[in-house]
Amino acid sequence: MTVSVVLGLSVCFLWARSYQVSDALRWSGRRYIGYAIVYSGKGGLLVGVSGQAQGFAPGIRYDRELDPDPASSTKGLLFSWLGFGLSHELPPYDVAANAVWVPDWFVALLLLTAPVLYLNKRRTIRHREQTGLCGHCGYDLRATAERCPECGTFAGQSAAA
Ligand SMILES: [Zn+2]
Repeated sequence: MTVSVVLGLSVCFLWARSYQVSDALRWSGRRYIGYAIVYSGKGGLLVGVSGQAQGFAPGIRYDRELDPDPASSTKGLLFSWLGFGLSHELPPYDVAANAVWVPDWFVALLLLTAPVLYLNKRRTIRHREQTGLCGHCGYDLRATAERCPECGTFAGQSAAA
């Protein structure tokens, strides 16, 4: 849960940053011509495999540029919609042989939805228990405080769920 929040906030940070500065992580193996790339630019994230010669020593290389390109290429475009996209380039490669990209808002939404739902559920349970209801099903527990006759949940048990 905490990981999801940290990642979600990191994506929001990258999202804001991506309009000013691009970030690119390239990875290249010893025997592979080309490189794998993760790129952040203009509100999107791209993951791709490049057919271009890597031009750097095998390993990981980080680059950033001012005035970034969007995380989408128009060459070999298979699909592009609302910041989502897919491309497959044929040689001679310009950038990526195969690439997928997603908008930052989507990644942030995905990562931050679970924690928000979780906190909401916790709040509902706490509210029910404070008002004498079963935290699990909402049954009135004023007559049977230790255990819910409706769903069998013991008092205080639902908070842990
Ligand atoms: Zn119950």
